[in-house]
Amino acid sequence: MPKADSLVTNAFVLTMDEAGTRFSDGAVAIVGSKIAAVGPAADFATWHIAQRIDARGGILMPGLVNTHTHAAMTLFRGMADDLPLMNWLNDHIFPAEARLDREKVYAGALLACAEMIRSGTTCFCDMYLFEDAVADAAKTAGMRAVVGEVLFDFPSPHYGPLAAGLAFTESLIARWKDDALVSVAVEPHSPYLCAPELLQQAEAISRAHGALLVIHLSETAAEVAELKKRFGKTPVAHLADLGLLSPRLLACHAVVLSDRDIDMMAAGGVKVSHNPESNMKLASGIAPVPALLEAGICVGLGTDGCASNNDLDLFGAMDMAAKLHKVATADPTVVDASTALKLATIDGARALGIGDITGSLEPGKQADLIVIDTDCPHLTPMYHPESQLVYAARGADVALTMVAGKILMQHGRWTTLDVARTMARVREIAAEIGKA
Ligand SMILES: [Zn+2]
Repeated sequence: MPKADSLVTNAFVLTMDEAGTRFSDGAVAIVGSKIAAVGPAADFATWHIAQRIDARGGILMPGLVNTHTHAAMTLFRGMADDLPLMNWLNDHIFPAEARLDREKVYAGALLACAEMIRSGTTCFCDMYLFEDAVADAAKTAGMRAVVGEVLFDFPSPHYGPLAAGLAFTESLIARWKDDALVSVAVEPHSPYLCAPELLQQAEAISRAHGALLVIHLSETAAEVAELKKRFGKTPVAHLADLGLLSPRLLACHAVVLSDRDIDMMAAGGVKVSHNPESNMKLASGIAPVPALLEAGICVGLGTDGCASNNDLDLFGAMDMAAKLHKVATADPTVVDASTALKLATIDGARALGIGDITGSLEPGKQADLIVIDTDCPHLTPMYHPESQLVYAARGADVALTMVAGKILMQHGRWTTLDVARTMARVREIAAEIGKA
């Protein structure tokens, strides 16, 4: 008799596998941290199951993958809104970040993990200062994470001079090398804050360790103009000439792109993190996502940090992505619900280079999954689950979040985190920041 540690049953299962397999009365069996089997509930009648989890007729699907955030920026949620990007960064965010320390970043990242777990995100890619604290927070929360210390030309409030930042990145890679949940990326901030030498040093570390290389790229027209003035080429062409375009590169934002930029990114196998809400709020522009997809570029979805969104709910990001590109192209057929759902799951996992272990419900993959409670007015009736998830559901509808076979949240209760305590600490930190 086949055995499983747990069986999530009584669910509409959306596997998000290549064939788009779904089961209207389905179940997922889990052994240890992995998915053992996915199929119609009837297939499991003879299984020996240690723990049954009733999805109560809800939707069971892969956990969402947030391909770009700055988790600890939950500390700055709502602090400085409705400003242009450069003014927002230079006059508000950078000065506030100069006063951060490891403990504050840990508290902010823990709050972010609580919010992401609550709203169905099982994996996130982070860029920030004191990134060891973010790795610790993800580990405490039980989330899957790709973390990287932000690198730029000027001294960091964390590590000081750049050389120490590169050394710190190497030490992070060594520290988390064999971890089941946390992996480390190399993360130069952007072509406008990183000199060519830094970009090439970052690429060399990424190549040596096979680590993801994460960068903000072509986020605004002002950035493109600045790079053209300094180097006589677009940010993408600049990175191409420095040898940075590869399948290890995750370009965050990629808003202002020429046709030639898109061709170069496609040829290099570059991945993109699309952050529609941040781009809208900072009026950065509209990333040409339909054109990127048309060119065969892998695109994942991100929220960006809480100071420019202002939440980490990927359901909101899916809804926004699906609608934004329709209005931008005057074509209601682009970025349909199925596509938006792929961006937030399997394609996000691929963008992070971990599509073989998470992002879809398939035997052998990690049991990173969520259940959406559909027994509520705004999700009734149910013609097309994909449409419901993208256009009507919200993070608050998530009833269960599991990572690597472990339940992290069920019916609004977190199993790994003392969220009331974390919120209290973040309120204290915000009061200090507010006074400064
Ligand atoms: Zn960002």
